[in-house]
Parts: sequence; C-alpha cells; structure tokens
Amino acid sequence: MYRLGIDLGGTKIEAILLAENGLVLSRRRIATQAERGLDHILARLTLLVDLVLRGTSKKDVLVGVGTPGSISLETGLLRNSNTQCLNNRPLKKMIQSCLGMEVSIANDANCFALAEAVLGAGKNEKIVFGVILGTGCGGGLVINKKCIKGPNSIAGEFGHHSIDQNGRPCWCGKQGCLETYISGSGLEARFFNETGKRMSAKEIFSSNSNQARVLKLEYMKSFGFGIANLCSILDPDIVIFGGGISQQPELYTIGIREIKRYFFSDSVRTKFVKNGLGDSSGVFGAALFSNELGF
Ligand SMILES: [Zn+2]
Repeated sequence: MYRLGIDLGGTKIEAILLAENGLVLSRRRIATQAERGLDHILARLTLLVDLVLRGTSKKDVLVGVGTPGSISLETGLLRNSNTQCLNNRPLKKMIQSCLGMEVSIANDANCFALAEAVLGAGKNEKIVFGVILGTGCGGGLVINKKCIKGPNSIAGEFGHHSIDQNGRPCWCGKQGCLETYISGSGLEARFFNETGKRMSAKEIFSSNSNQARVLKLEYMKSFGFGIANLCSILDPDIVIFGGGISQQPELYTIGIREIKRYFFSDSVRTKFVKNGLGDSSGVFGAALFSNELGF
C-alpha cells in the first residue's frame, strides 16, 4: 500500500505520497487562508490530494492527516485546535467525504514526535518527547517508536500545564498555561503588553533592545521551568524541538542552562536538541500515522 501524509496547517497544507519502501513519489504544498473557513480549507485539501495522487488508485492508498487539536472521543468533533474554524466540526468525516477515502487523523505534535523518533534526531533513542514551539506549544510522546496517546488523547499536551493558577489567561479557558509563556504568540503578547509595540517572536529574539533582552531571559526561565517539569514526569532520553522558535540558538545554550537549574537530578543525561527533519516532520509523521484507523 502507498501512504499519503497530509499536514493540515493554518496557512498551508502539505501532502506527500510514499511508496511501500518509504520512497517519496510526490510532494506538494499549497497555501490556505484559515480565515476563509472550513469549506475553503476542504476545497484546497481536495485539490492538493488530486495533484499528489495523479491517477494513483485511491484504493491502494492509506491516508494520515496531521492537524492541531484532536478528535473528541465523546463527540467525534475536533477540539483544541488553534486553527479555530476547525473546532467543533466532524473533521474526520468531512475529510473522508471530500476525498472519498478513509483517513486517520493525528495531532500535529504527535506527527512531529513520531517522525523525529523514527526518521529524525531521535531515531537511536527509546523515550522521545517532541516539542513544537510555534504559534502554540504542542508536545508528543513516543516510546520504542510508538506514539503514546492516552485514554483521553491528550498525552504530551504539556503546553496546557499551568505554571501559575492565577497566571495569564489561555484560549483553552485556564490560566497560567505554559503555552502563554513559551509559544511565539505568548512572547509576542508579552512584548506588546510591556512596550505597546508589535513585533514577531523572531524579531524579538534578534533584537538587542533592553526590553527584548529582559523578556528573552524571562522566556528562557519559563522554558527551563516547563521542560524540567516535563522531564520529572517522563524522564525522556531526548527532547526534540520543532517550530519557529526551535531555530533560536539561545534555546540550546541559555535555555538548557535554565532547564538544568530546575532539574530534579544531579546528573542530566537527557539530550535537548533541534529537530533533524526540519519542515518535513509534519507530512512524514502524518504518513506514518496512515495505518492507524480511528483516533
Ligand atoms: Zn491552555
């Protein structure tokens, strides 16, 4: 069977078709505008799949779709996605009816973690935790090349661990979620509150202004605190970072120093590294999930 992996993001959709031996047969990416709503996204998705399959018979293809959020086991509706027009919609059923194919839906951070554990920076490790530091903050846990989802499908969602129950409000309804401190949007909101200026997380990281320096250090302390908390629960062999902020070199110097400050062990054998697959982890991870029906 061929495997089709689809990475459904807020601003783009990417698809990859793999042969049985893992060879890449076709790969395409198209832009989407989440603000135009779900029908637009589904129309773009259908077009993309036609382009990638190029006549390959659908009955010979297993499909995995990676998306932020997860399907509620209670209602069958997507929840917890930061592409909010997808929330509270029966995404799996809608995609299946558009494509005329059965699909497996997987959380995007789980796709990242699985791809990195099987093919990327964690391929020689046993307990792998993948962290996406992008607009939001997602996580996925893979043990012995198997993604652990848990009975509620929320395993790895450490971005919504609260580090202050009276802290910053989060879109999920709680306060003090780690995501509001260490995601790109969290850093940008903090910078705006402090300075009245709007700058992207990337611009803040490359700025040498006093205000940016103070907030970067504050960011690194929250990052260290959050990752050390994570390690005291799972004690992973490796933590692999993805998403826009994973490109920042300070994460692997000051950030690791801050992790060690809060670490619950005198030795730190855990590796903290940048991803090995770059942008490709989303589609490869989705393709790896394609043989799991349900979820
Ligand atoms: Zn939250």
